[in-house]
Amino acid sequence: MKYDYLIVGAGLFGAVFAYEAHRRGKKCLVIDKRSHLGGNIYTESIDGINVHKYGAHIFHTSNKKVWDYINQFAEFNNFVNSPLAVYKNELYNLPFNMNTFSKMWGIKTPAEAKKIIEQQISELNIVNPSNLEEQALSLVGRDVYEKLIKGYTEKQWGRPCTELPAFIIKRLPLRFTYDNNYFNDCYQGIPIGGYTPIIKKMLAGVEVRLNTDYFDFAKDNNECANKIIFTGMIDEFFNYKLGHLAYRSLKFEHQQLECDNYQGNAVINYTEREIPYTRIIEHKHFEFGQQPTTVITKEFPSEWNPGDEPYYPVNDEENNRLYAAYAEMGRTVSNVIFGGRLGSYKYYDMDKVIEAALSTVASEFCE
Ligand code: FAD
Ligand code: UDP
Repeated sequence: MKYDYLIVGAGLFGAVFAYEAHRRGKKCLVIDKRSHLGGNIYTESIDGINVHKYGAHIFHTSNKKVWDYINQFAEFNNFVNSPLAVYKNELYNLPFNMNTFSKMWGIKTPAEAKKIIEQQISELNIVNPSNLEEQALSLVGRDVYEKLIKGYTEKQWGRPCTELPAFIIKRLPLRFTYDNNYFNDCYQGIPIGGYTPIIKKMLAGVEVRLNTDYFDFAKDNNECANKIIFTGMIDEFFNYKLGHLAYRSLKFEHQQLECDNYQGNAVINYTEREIPYTRIIEHKHFEFGQQPTTVITKEFPSEWNPGDEPYYPVNDEENNRLYAAYAEMGRTVSNVIFGGRLGSYKYYDMDKVIEAALSTVASEFCE
């Protein structure tokens, strides 16, 4: 065998695994079908602005081990994500906090906000929230749900909130303080210079082949490595034998504009259904850029069809069951380890991907 590991995917999972295997003296080959490193965290400099080509990526974690780990590869700035939400002519702070409630109802104190929300919740009579709509309504009441959640969520996921799992909305904090930090985590920031240099550092000294799809490559090179780390779609790996897993895709529309500050914030969400995009990102604000021009990206959710990028797994019960059957099949191929957002079919953030990759490393090298 020429390699100890063939790593399919030069995204964060593949890069962490390759870095750790390489420093243990293992011979690795990383392949990726895209023309660049980094998978979805890839950033590209346009006139000095680091553009997040696959949507806004803010690193946040409460796991000190993961925070220390990623800080080996980059210096992080003190960016705090505080998105705004536009609903028709109204502008609100996110996540749902006293600034949001004050704007929505003209109130000032937590007691007033709680009273309104409790009143709205009690009118609904939801006992055990079983889907995203019930979960959201029973957390924030009808006004916030109708203006800031329903339209956004239905265009993001392409299905009614009643058919979506409750956990998706639990990602967002709800607090009764005037605090616009989108995350509750202890550590947060943007790597100065973007994410691509992180992946480049991880893969220094490792052989990488871009523009290389595993399924073509495997035809002639099936025996090139003792083990495969596969971070692509697990259902595609098995040629969709048990059926297709559902994914959600996105289209990104990037524009460079001749102005120095287009929207005054890194992320603005558009929560009404009628606007076809979910958010506009203005990249320079992630690194407090002072460049004379700016780059913005509109994010349009779309249905996933074979050939599209599968950005989000749809972790409802039906798809989780199908994934479990694929994972069982995965256990029968002893020389392949599945990992990452697509290989594990999990709505992982970057910190969880690092955690999962390090735990794969620990079990692979019996540490
Ligand atoms: P990927 O980055 O998807 O990498 C997999 C790689 O495998 C890809 O490069 C792909 O081309 C390659 N590949 C797939 N199939 C094949 C094949 N057959 N042959 C060869 N190569 C193949 N996380 C956060 O922590 N904070 C955020 O703010 C955040 N924002 C996000 C915003 C968006 C719009 C999205 C979609 C995700 C966001 N995430 C965020 C999640 C983050 O992107 C993921 O956790 C992380 O990128 C997953 O890394 P990965 O290596 O598992 O997968
Ligand atoms: N969400 C919403 N309104 C918003 C922002 C988010 O209803 O303005 C909901 C929506 O269902 C979304 C989920 O919260 O899918 C998680 O949002 P997050 O920002 O974590 O999504 P991601 O960055 O992963 O796309």
